[in-house]
Amino acid sequence: MATQSKKQEKHVYFFGGGKADGNESMKNLLGGKGANLAEMAGHPDLKLPVPPGFTITTEVCTYYYQHKKTYPKTLNSQIKDSVKQIEKLMGKKFGNVKDPLLLSVRSGARRSMPGMMDTVLNIGLNDETVKGLIKVTGDERFAYDAYRRLVMMYADVVIEKAGGLEPAKGIGIRRIMDEKLSELKKEKGVELDTEIEAKDLKKLVKEFKALTKKYLKQEFPENPWDQLMGGVGAVFASWNGKRAIEYRKIERIPEEWGTAVNVQAMVFGNMGDSSCTGVAFTRNPGNGDNHFYGEYLVNAQGEDVVAGIRTPAPINNASKNDHSKKLITLEKLMPAQYKELDEFQKRLESHYKDMQDIEFTIEKGKLYMLQCRVGKRNGVAAVKMATDMYKEKLITADEAIMRVGPNQLVELLLPMFDHMEELKNKPIAKGLPAGPGAAVGRLVFESSDAVEWASRGEKVILVREETSPEDVDGMHKAQAIITSKGGMTSHAALVARGWGKCCIVGCSEIEIREHEKLLITKEGKKFHEGDWVSLNGTSGLMYEGVLELIATDLNKNKSYRSLMKLVDKTKVLGVRTNADNPKDALQAAYFGAEGIGLFRTEHMFYGEGSEKPLFLLRKMIMSDTLEERKSALDELFKFVKKDIKATLEVMDGKPVTIRLLDPPLHEFVPHDKEKLMALSKELGVSMSILNRRILALHENNPMLGHRGVRLGVSYPEITEMQVRAILEAAGELIKDGKHAMPEIMVPVTMGKHELQHQKVIVDRVYLEVLKKLKLKKIAYLYGTMIEIPRAALKADSMAEVADFFSFGTNDLTQMSFGFSRDDIGGFLPQYLDLKLLPDDPFVTIDQSGVGELIKIGVERGRKTKPQLEVGICGEHGGDAESVKFCHRLGMNYVSCSPYRVPIARLAAAQAAIEDKTATF
Ligand code: PEP
Ligand code: MG
Repeated sequence: MATQSKKQEKHVYFFGGGKADGNESMKNLLGGKGANLAEMAGHPDLKLPVPPGFTITTEVCTYYYQHKKTYPKTLNSQIKDSVKQIEKLMGKKFGNVKDPLLLSVRSGARRSMPGMMDTVLNIGLNDETVKGLIKVTGDERFAYDAYRRLVMMYADVVIEKAGGLEPAKGIGIRRIMDEKLSELKKEKGVELDTEIEAKDLKKLVKEFKALTKKYLKQEFPENPWDQLMGGVGAVFASWNGKRAIEYRKIERIPEEWGTAVNVQAMVFGNMGDSSCTGVAFTRNPGNGDNHFYGEYLVNAQGEDVVAGIRTPAPINNASKNDHSKKLITLEKLMPAQYKELDEFQKRLESHYKDMQDIEFTIEKGKLYMLQCRVGKRNGVAAVKMATDMYKEKLITADEAIMRVGPNQLVELLLPMFDHMEELKNKPIAKGLPAGPGAAVGRLVFESSDAVEWASRGEKVILVREETSPEDVDGMHKAQAIITSKGGMTSHAALVARGWGKCCIVGCSEIEIREHEKLLITKEGKKFHEGDWVSLNGTSGLMYEGVLELIATDLNKNKSYRSLMKLVDKTKVLGVRTNADNPKDALQAAYFGAEGIGLFRTEHMFYGEGSEKPLFLLRKMIMSDTLEERKSALDELFKFVKKDIKATLEVMDGKPVTIRLLDPPLHEFVPHDKEKLMALSKELGVSMSILNRRILALHENNPMLGHRGVRLGVSYPEITEMQVRAILEAAGELIKDGKHAMPEIMVPVTMGKHELQHQKVIVDRVYLEVLKKLKLKKIAYLYGTMIEIPRAALKADSMAEVADFFSFGTNDLTQMSFGFSRDDIGGFLPQYLDLKLLPDDPFVTIDQSGVGELIKIGVERGRKTKPQLEVGICGEHGGDAESVKFCHRLGMNYVSCSPYRVPIARLAAAQAAIEDKTATF
């Protein structure tokens, strides 16, 4: 049995000639590219002209790494069989000297990793087969160009990179060869690669081989099978290349996935003027418009488009931009092929029911489809496409909701420049708008500088002639990216789009001297490293200096409104906000907040307008006797009431959870002498007495010290003043016909007795306020934060006293892990690097640890009081994964900062949909 299953083990999946062994659902095994090639070639609805080929599975990659970089025994014979099938379909033979079949070898992980891994093209060429290629094509120039490309790629990708050779002085073989090519062009007085003559290319092949020998101490292999297996090995090796590892880290792609390898018959977009190659999207990935959108280059190979060496032309009028508007469209140049391509793209989109990113090649008038995959899009486009496709009945409402990543919504909130302000400034350059939003920062010219400057807290804009996968780290750290070369499908544009980062590409008006760290504008103005510039990634304009950023008006975006309508119909979980002033509360309500989940009372003692109340609070803290303290509190009362009332008023009809004073008192003690002197005068005590009182407030572990409910226990008069302020504010609003809904929340509790202790005060004050305001009732809730592990465990008895729980997951995380929330930066990066932790637990709930405590808290609380209102108000309330977790626990709401409200709403809806589709 065991031998039989071994015999049947399939490592290679063939596609071509209207058939395929695999299909789209096999992404884990065949990688995204391989699965889609199989689907395009073999699915009865598609049957597109895909050059025949085969995919070596990701399992072989895993095997390769688990078995000292060797392959399963039957791989070789399976590859040979598949090459035979390609030969049959193409009518050519691999390694044949008369009419050689040429192959490409490309990577293909489960999820696309643009440009991160390696590719080798034109495999099968050597000094003999090249002659055959010349004969059948009648084009010596083309044949030697293909050959020199192979030698260059092979030396770079297979011998140097995959061989782990460290280039001398950091200058790799590709750069050495590129320089040779430039020298040759200079010598011949030509500008473009395509202008180099055949005999010179032939010489170049020889020279490239000699350079390979000289620098890498290895011969270029003449045997086509050695070339093929070398290419396959290089793709597997590139899975663990520096760039790929870096990218995986950013995109959170697991190392275990591995990559597949796709081997395919070569087709050529560089066989003269009836050939071309291009990249297209079934809809505009920049703004979501429903127009076929793309770029192409005549007489070029695929990587020429992505590398941004020449400015690509638009495939149709809808794809024109300022740079390319004068170039001839594919629709005009090759109408029949364009029509066919347009028909294929429509077929692909209706088959996949999503925007597709397509690569195609036309070889001497014949169209081939080389790749299709779900296209990356920025947040603005994602929202528009999702809602448009729903309206077009291509997808359901649930699918539309699932199409938008919660964090993509952040892009819709990206700041922009004030339009009028922008008009006052003259742009210094214009490029292509590749990534949305606006950004301001200081110029840096190297990716490593971007990383270094950003680590110092600098906002930087990375400027490059063009970017390459080596730059991803710096691109990630930069506020924005600008390149002088490349089009909307260049590496920079692709990556920035994926991240929703402000980006301008193809800004050819500027000259960038990377080595001199100098940028020169069309007008000759020079900009150096560290100079400030402002970029508008939506219009492609660059400005000198700092332009002020303003928030965008989200609700003016029609697609966003349509999406949120669907979201609100779907979600079960409520979304509130953490806000402690009317301005933030209104902002959050505008974003759809259904109430306030955390109003931190202490915030009135910080910032603008806080001088007087802060002084009174300090007076209270420094008081020696109950009388003194009470008199200070009496004075403070009107400020507190006014502050709370203002927010209760703007949140009319919505619940407002007001938390009693939380921080340890010493946090409010003044440090400067002048303020201390004013205080000593007011209190009528000497400076030395005052200093002694301050010293007495000192604690070794203030986070575990005299804070939260403990203050209310030691100084019940503080609780009393606050509760009176809350209830009087609410009562007065009710008398004015408003609908105030306060919820009084006690922080940092560890058990029921503390809650009972404070409840006695609340009950008494409540009756006093009713009497004073001549009211029969003020509706309010009394509850507690759960932010100490013990409180979660004692939730059953705490629920006897509390009407609601709100999980304070900042402190709960701190106290569960024993990690100081203020000092975790000192060791967290190492923990993440060593995979001792999967994520920062202060950002996303540690579901298996802290999450267990929350689960226990909810269950035990609800066991005592089934109607117990439960929410969360730690920072996690704005993290999509944590929101989904809260939904699964059956919480009533999450509360997050105003700008995270749309994200939490979308995540809540997605959680509800995931619930429906869960199979457990
Ligand atoms: C918490 O601890 O999660 C919380 C919301 O309170 P704070 O951040 O104010 O301590
Ligand atoms: Mg807390």
